[in-house]
Amino acid sequence: MLRTLFWLAIAVVMTDCTANENTAKQAADTRPDYVLVIHGGAGTLSRQAMTPEQEARYRSALDSALQVGEAILKSGGTALDAVTETVSWLEDCPLFNAGRGAVFTHEGRNELDASIMDGRTQNAGAVGSVTIVKNPIRLARAVMEKSPHVFLVGPGAERFAIENGLDTVPPSWFFTQERWDALQRVLKRGDKTGSVSSDLADYKFGTVGAVALDRQGNLAAATSTGGMTNKRWNRLGDSPVIGAGTYASNDACAVSCTGHGEYFIRYAVAHDVWARMVYGGASLQDAAHEIMMKKLVEKGGEGGLIAVDRNGAIAMPFNSEGMYRGYARPGERKTAIFADE
Ligand code: ASP
Repeated sequence: MLRTLFWLAIAVVMTDCTANENTAKQAADTRPDYVLVIHGGAGTLSRQAMTPEQEARYRSALDSALQVGEAILKSGGTALDAVTETVSWLEDCPLFNAGRGAVFTHEGRNELDASIMDGRTQNAGAVGSVTIVKNPIRLARAVMEKSPHVFLVGPGAERFAIENGLDTVPPSWFFTQERWDALQRVLKRGDKTGSVSSDLADYKFGTVGAVALDRQGNLAAATSTGGMTNKRWNRLGDSPVIGAGTYASNDACAVSCTGHGEYFIRYAVAHDVWARMVYGGASLQDAAHEIMMKKLVEKGGEGGLIAVDRNGAIAMPFNSEGMYRGYARPGERKTAIFADE
């Protein structure tokens, strides 16, 4: 009797293993050649608050950014190069809160943060509070590839940038009138530093990020931001924090976040998506949904994330009114802003 039960149990376990293997194989067989997903920040983005011209400008910028990364992935380039170049392009575009177009600190400066992670090696690089580096994402990548460290901040990070020949610019390069006016409105209202409650429109987040899966099956994630309007005391958000704003590991997924950074740090959001998949066996969709639409909603953390898994599945959940976002995979390129699309 016991013996029969034993063999029965073995048979059940083996069927289960074969089923799992089959599902994994099927998923790998249907994996698209490449996938690129981007975001340009989440926040109070409604159709009413945007003119058709503004909307068209954002959609066209998102589409151009997708084309930059897609060209790399299509020709067999790496996910790491695709996210670096896509985010770099978004940093140079003044519409987004990263690089040129970054929001202003309480003192009227632009302090930039960025991070990148290679899912193949799980190497990572991050920079915080830099003020003269044209493309902070390139600096984050240089930290990953040319230093023994993961995270450099402030003047030290800038010295490292200069020593490694990265492009530097005068701080005025990052100035845009729109962001300056947003700071003036916030200062006039006397909003408490770090609060985003008085008029969310001025805190329209606008961080940028990209995640990609390449032909070789490698994943990568990158995020870049000016942080939050009226920030102070060298405040850092989640964007440069590996595990909070950015995470990538070939065994599951690549994630880039945007939103009220303090919450994303507290709940290690990007890593949480990975952990729910790897430890909990969740699908990418379920993992991303649980943290973004349940846990963060419960805690009051506004924002969104983009993610791609090792089989090319995509998730782009957000709990704010809208999120600038888009994706590209063979034969399909799509951009979206509002919740109902
Ligand atoms: N997460 C960024 C920060 O808190 C802001 C954003 O995503 O817009 O610095």
